[in-house]
Amino acid sequence: MTQLSYEQGPIRPPSEAYSLLLRVTRNCPWNRCEFCHTYKKEKFSLRTAEEVKKDIDTIQEIVPEIKSLSWRVGLGGEVAAPLVNLILQDPQHDSDGFRQVALWLYNGGKNVFLQDGDNLILKTDQLVEILNDLKNTFPSIERITTYSRSKTVSKKTIEELQGLKRAGLSRIHIGLETGYDPLLQYIKKGVTAQEHIEAGKKVKESGISLSEYVILGLGGKGMWREHAMETAKVLNQINPDFIRVRTLKVLKTMLLYQKIEKGEFIPLNDDEMIEEERLLIKHLGGITSTFVSDHILNLLQEVEGKLPEEKEKMLKRIDLYLALPREEKDNFRLGRRAGVYQSVEDLSKPELRNQVEIALKQIKSERPDGIEKVLSDLMETFI
Ligand code: SF4
Repeated sequence: MTQLSYEQGPIRPPSEAYSLLLRVTRNCPWNRCEFCHTYKKEKFSLRTAEEVKKDIDTIQEIVPEIKSLSWRVGLGGEVAAPLVNLILQDPQHDSDGFRQVALWLYNGGKNVFLQDGDNLILKTDQLVEILNDLKNTFPSIERITTYSRSKTVSKKTIEELQGLKRAGLSRIHIGLETGYDPLLQYIKKGVTAQEHIEAGKKVKESGISLSEYVILGLGGKGMWREHAMETAKVLNQINPDFIRVRTLKVLKTMLLYQKIEKGEFIPLNDDEMIEEERLLIKHLGGITSTFVSDHILNLLQEVEGKLPEEKEKMLKRIDLYLALPREEKDNFRLGRRAGVYQSVEDLSKPELRNQVEIALKQIKSERPDGIEKVLSDLMETFI
């Protein structure tokens, strides 16, 4: 049984599902955003380059163990699906990085995501040292990405960012959340729209790919219009490579929940959130970003495309949902959240539709709190 293990953080972006996760800092140095609970009880700390390099060495030691297991089960050293299944089902591999590395190798061993919340806070030299070590140890690596905050990025010089790019940093994922200043203050993002713009432009100028995340529903009933329109304005100035949306779901563990309790923040319902998404997309212009809806909580994951050419297609997909009668919308919302439907078009597949129809009838007859509570519970399971 292998005892090899290395440190891992709690989250990664959806687009890094098949990436190797390497923790270079612990938790978030800001940790005050009211919609975020990921690191709330955790203290931020830096990891030294030595600590991280030790983890890289451990991962390097795990690779031959996986290959030798492959030989032992007759797969000739190949990290193929049967080997990964075997490793995933074997309880002896549940507490270390063995499974993670096996999945990574199975997916080509090309992508790495650096955890946790804001890695550009590290001294540039230190991050370069880690990136160099990673690339030298695993020449198969093609993409290395990380989370960071606009505030932190804006403190780096262009030369520093270019140095990080040369060392192998391919992409920075930034939580823009909104471009509306009063809302940025309200959720305690600790950054202004102007700082978002400056940081985003800097990343673009350095040649590092940029993903900006927007939270659908963040404005609530009070600020949804401003949220959508001001966010579009900020994105239009940055022109990030990717605009990624994810849907707000407020849990009791989030500070924003207290604002809901006080009646200060009124969340949008699904239809309102889709109207808000429509307004955001409608006001995106003069940019060449790819709009991505890859978060499991998003109702319309099919609303994706390259700007500007696919803007109309995205708006039409939204309109297709908005034009549905109430019953159809509820059927779709339940089916989508339960993982039955992938898109609104799936409503025309009788075998899927019937399944959802039965569940919907059952909910209506058995659950006095109705479909909204069921949908809310389903969403919570994904956070
Ligand atoms: S900066 Fe990111 S990780 Fe930190 S509290 Fe805000 S959303 Fe969470």
